[in-house]
This record gives sequence, structure tokens and C-alpha cells, in this order.
Amino acid sequence: MSLLVVGSVAFDAIETPFGKVERTLGGAATYFSVAASFFTHVNLVGVVGDDFTPRDAAIFRGRRIDITGLERAPGKTFFWAGRYGHDPNERVTLATELNVFATFRPKLPEAYRHSKHVFLANIDPTLQRSVLEQIHGTPRMVALDTMNYWIERTPAELREILKHTHILMINDAETRMLSSEHNLLRAARHIFGIGPKTLVIKRGEYGALMVHGGGIFSVPGFPLEEVHDPTGAGDSFAGGFMGYLSGAGKLTDAVLRRAMVYGSVMGSFAVERFGLERLRKVTPREIDARARHFLRLTQFRL
Ligand code: AMP
Repeated sequence: MSLLVVGSVAFDAIETPFGKVERTLGGAATYFSVAASFFTHVNLVGVVGDDFTPRDAAIFRGRRIDITGLERAPGKTFFWAGRYGHDPNERVTLATELNVFATFRPKLPEAYRHSKHVFLANIDPTLQRSVLEQIHGTPRMVALDTMNYWIERTPAELREILKHTHILMINDAETRMLSSEHNLLRAARHIFGIGPKTLVIKRGEYGALMVHGGGIFSVPGFPLEEVHDPTGAGDSFAGGFMGYLSGAGKLTDAVLRRAMVYGSVMGSFAVERFGLERLRKVTPREIDARARHFLRLTQFRL
């Protein structure tokens, strides 16, 4: 069973208290697919410019990632620049240059049109909708990420795509903004009324909270002494989460809980080094060991 992702493939400039990089490979779909590929086969839909070299594409080689759907367009690849202070949950966006993304209209290769598991990374809700429309039949599992920009600027389009979404994966600020509720549990109830029946709230270094019909589950962020670069944590979390769910092929409470742990595991690796540096070297054995570490971290007796 494969997992379809649509989202950004980018070059990022990043500044953190641990250093600075002028141009490193990034993008939501890149982090997501690398993280998910440890658990399942991934089909990637996105766009890059003519500055994207075979060396950049090497990140996808030797992994279970199909890039037939990664279009190449004349012009420059999407560029994002951001700065973090000592609080990894707070970032300042310094630049967003859409470049080839500005005119991107996702086109699914025929082989992707039978996808049952889909992740719509943070892009224009109208483009997210067009991806779902190209799929034959109804996917079993659709998860979606979005951001304040779309919540404020295109609320009607976002609500429309949310009607077709099973799992919404956003951060706490976005949850509050979308629901106009400060309390996250009340916010979840509001969001269930729009469409998604599972809400995963990403809370940066504090971990993540899942609310669904079967109850609430919370997973901590892995305690790290040094967070070198928080970029991509959310998308790597989503990759671990969706990759695990897609590999398991069912949506029981036990499977969803394990998916939360694998999400947190992949997010924690992503932030250990700049860009994709750590994620590209991580091994299945390390993933397994960290998942066991989570078990020890959260177990107690009464
Ligand atoms: P995360 O830290 O998981 O929220 O994701 C960071 C990644 O998202 C970076 O690698 C950026 O290239 C990408 N990104 C930043 N802003 C946008 C945007 N407006 N649309 C799509 N991708 C973005």
C-alpha cells in the first residue's frame, strides 16, 4: 500500500542559535516523504525549478519514494527563509519566494490515481482539493496540514476540503485560529463538526495531542539536549505518523497511538541537525531504539 503526498519541495535558508545555512534542501513534502519512507512506499507530487540538480534529488534515491510526480518547471525552486531564537516553538519567517510554486497545478500520474492513503501538506486548499479530485474512488485515509495564511485568507476553500479530510494535523495556534476556541478540547469538538474526525495537534517541543472519537492520547517531544534546527519537525512528525498508519493499513486506537509515537520519533530526529542532515542518515534500528525509549519515558505504575 502506498502513500501519496503533495506539498512543497524547497530550498531553505535557516538561522538558529546553533548556526546558519544559506541554502539547504527542505520543503514539507521532502521532510514528509523521507520520514514516511521508513514505514511505507511514498508517491510524491510537487514541483521544482531548473536549479534543482540530480545531487539534490539524491535525497529520494535508495528510498521507497517515487518521484514520477515531481514536476520540473522553468524557473527557481520554492525558497523559504526563517530564523529561530532559543525557543524552538517560535520562528520568524524572513522570506517566502513561491517561484515555480506560484503557477503549480498538481497533476497526478495515472499510477497515483488509485491512492487510498493521502497526505495533503500545507499548500493552497484549492490545490489540495484538485489532488483529491484526480483520485479515482474515495481514499480510505486523507490527512491534511494547513497554516494561518490559508485559515485567514481562504476560509471557505479550506472548509470545503476539510469535509473530505479524516485527519487534521495542525499546531496549537492554528487549532485555536480555525475553531475560534482557546481550549483545545473544545476546539477539537468544533473541528469534528467541520469534517475531520481525528485531530492531531502538533505542539513543538511539548509533543503532540490526538483527539478522536475513541478518546485522547498525548505523546511528549523526545527530550533532547540540543535542538539544532526545528525546521521540518512538523512534516517529519506527519511523515512518521502517516507512514506508520499507511503501513499498518487500519485505523484502530492502538494503531493511531503507535503512529503518534513514530511521528514524535521522526520529528525528534529531524531537529537534531540542520535541514535533512540527520534524517538522511537515520537507520531503522535507531528509529526502533527511540520508539522503545518513548515507552520507557512514558511508562509508570499506579
Ligand atoms: P515545518 O517546520 O515542519 O513546519 O516545515 C518547514 C518546511 O516547510 C520548510 O522546509 C519550508 O520550505 C516549508 N514551507 C515554509 N513555508 C511554506 C509555505 N508557505 N508553503 C509550503 N511550504 C512551506
